Amino acid sequence: MTAEDPMLARSQAMATLIRATGDDPARPGLAATPERAARAHAELFDGYDVNPQTLLAEAMEAADGYGGLVLVRGIRLYSHCEHHMLPMEGVVHVGYLPDGHLLGLSKIARAVEVLTRQLQGQERLTKEIADMVEKVARPKGVAVAVAARHHCITERGVRQTGSDTVTLITRGVLDSDPGLRRDFLGLCGLGGS
Ligand code: ZN
Repeated sequence: MTAEDPMLARSQAMATLIRATGDDPARPGLAATPERAARAHAELFDGYDVNPQTLLAEAMEAADGYGGLVLVRGIRLYSHCEHHMLPMEGVVHVGYLPDGHLLGLSKIARAVEVLTRQLQGQERLTKEIADMVEKVARPKGVAVAVAARHHCITERGVRQTGSDTVTLITRGVLDSDPGLRRDFLGLCGLGGS
């Protein structure tokens, strides 16, 4: 067996998918589509080639006395659910209370993006982000909140167009200290009464 060109395999799969929708991948309007769609697909799922933890560890620095909450809010989430391979869109908020080490702010967003460019489950994504921050920064506490709309819920089946899903993980002092926990939730716009 010869080694398969992954791009060719992708583009053949796209042509098969077009045929399955009932259209003709050879008609003029679609002639270049399998190849184009294959490139788009490769880009949307390029999170398998990067280790987000390594990326995050690259830009650590000494906290230099700063011991307050660090919160990166509103990181854009665009991913695909592992159940239907349909888009989920939303935001990710990552907070931690440093214990001597600060993470690069842009690296946090970039590491989250890497994880979103894989087939994902929202609950798993939330946990993977928390694990990653915990392992790399060894903070006093970490909190991750994700709010997302799943197209498998809004565009098919029950068609709950107004519904979104919120997942939340709090650990360490961000879990045990009610004040810090409240600060995190409030700053993320998730604070209740
Ligand atoms: Zn789904």
